[in-house]
Amino acid sequence: MNNVTKDAKCKILLIEDDELDRVAFERLVKQQRLPYNYDTATCFEQAKTILGSDRFDVVIVDYLLGDGTAFDVLDVLEHTAAQEDCPLAETDAAGPAVILTTGAGNEETAVRAMKAGAYDYMIKDLERNYLKVLPQVVEKALAHKKTEDALKQYHNNLESLVKERTEQLAEEKELLSVTLSSMTDGVIAVNTEKRVILFNKVAENLAKWRSQEVQGKPVDGVFRFIDEKTRKSLESPIDKVLKSGNMESGTDRDALVARDGSKCPISATAAPICKNDGTTIGVVMVLRDVSREREVDRMKTDFVSSVSHELRTPLTSIKAYTATILRDPNMPDKTRHEFLSVIDEESNRLKSLIDGLLEVSRIEAGTVKVVREPVDIAAIIDQVLPALRPIADKKNIHLETDLGDELGRLQADESKIRSMITNLLNNAIKFTPEQGEVCVSVRLQAQELVIRVSDTGIGIPKEDLPRIFDRFYRVYQPDRQMPGTGLGLAIVKEIVNMHAGRIEVESEPGQGTTFTIFLPLDSQAALYS
Ligand code: ADP
Repeated sequence: MNNVTKDAKCKILLIEDDELDRVAFERLVKQQRLPYNYDTATCFEQAKTILGSDRFDVVIVDYLLGDGTAFDVLDVLEHTAAQEDCPLAETDAAGPAVILTTGAGNEETAVRAMKAGAYDYMIKDLERNYLKVLPQVVEKALAHKKTEDALKQYHNNLESLVKERTEQLAEEKELLSVTLSSMTDGVIAVNTEKRVILFNKVAENLAKWRSQEVQGKPVDGVFRFIDEKTRKSLESPIDKVLKSGNMESGTDRDALVARDGSKCPISATAAPICKNDGTTIGVVMVLRDVSREREVDRMKTDFVSSVSHELRTPLTSIKAYTATILRDPNMPDKTRHEFLSVIDEESNRLKSLIDGLLEVSRIEAGTVKVVREPVDIAAIIDQVLPALRPIADKKNIHLETDLGDELGRLQADESKIRSMITNLLNNAIKFTPEQGEVCVSVRLQAQELVIRVSDTGIGIPKEDLPRIFDRFYRVYQPDRQMPGTGLGLAIVKEIVNMHAGRIEVESEPGQGTTFTIFLPLDSQAALYS
């Protein structure tokens, strides 16, 4: 049965198995024109169905229902509220306010029902006097329901705010951790007790510790700093910051000693982490692996000293021979001629060294032009060999050529190709001991000239192979460092690149070395294809 008043404010479900009670309720609503929009259920099962499909502000329930009790109804309501996927529970509103009606002598049950979630109870009497106060009780229940609704709404708002903020924080944390892990520098943060609170991926690689292993650990046990040269321990920039309160850097000789004892040249800068009021709460340190920079520095220093040496040696002998000639006007012609030849030879050495330096600086400045013309590679080799043969002969080195019958016409810069072959052959002779062999061979393969310069010399250690084309790089030979500047192969590689070719090297220490150059016949076409 359904009765909708015109001015329905309150939606009620009356669950009552006693027909007389139901009729009395309906009469009351009608007589007093109560603004109720109500449904009735005559037993628990019916109530359950109705409650599963509709929402109410107030439920008035009789304690005993024949097929159940008011507790079963409270159970259903509690269950509905707990079900997240239930459309009826998915609202900002609280559940209905439950008013329990029960016969006299059942007060104890009524109190229990209130504990189970009912809002109020009414004791039924035979004359049904309780109905007189029902409107007030319903009104109070409604007011209570409104408060509950507001509370629930507030709670929901708060919950979504917390959820939103938590998601935001998680996003910010994720962003920070992605930023830190994609940094190319190591980042480490410690608190004022010097315990690690942050350790990014690069720091892990440098110190050889995993971030989880060092969290909360004293940083002094994780790595330390030493002077690269003296190997003495150095004060960490973190300690310096904690003392001074300012940003601090290490020295340009710092090395970091990792977990496994390995040392890495490092640049370290640390800064205090301060709160808004200026108190220091920790230190953040940025670490950068500077092995490459230090290596370049070392190469430059080596270069300056070897260039000075290379320049001084021929100059010294030029000076000495000139002084001797000047001192002795009666020197026999033969001797004078011999001395002048030495001066000439040494001047040539000086010239080629200075040419090399100029060539490199021109390449660096990008001012080198490639003049392409048809080049006869066999003729170039024939021109180069006579100048090198005397040096090879001095060491009893067998200098051999192996030129294919058909070599095509190479479009290239003749003087550069000549300098490239001279450089490679010079090295081959220089790094090959007495009685050795040096061979230059040329073949035409699939429109490419394959030029191979091989020797039976001292070879190049595997670890140096990737670096030998770097400017100024020379393999370190503690016992007998050969004369040179480390520029030759850098120039060779540049020349090969200018001609759209490639160079490969194979070497076995103590056995020999082979450089192979592949040059497209028409490098211009190859460059733009
Ligand atoms: P330089 O010969 O002036 O030292 P290069 O740039 O020509 O400089 O060569 C770089 C380094 O490569 C040499 O110092 C040497 O250690 C190594 N190298 C070059 N060619 C050979 C070779 N044929 N056999 C052994 N080592 C070589």
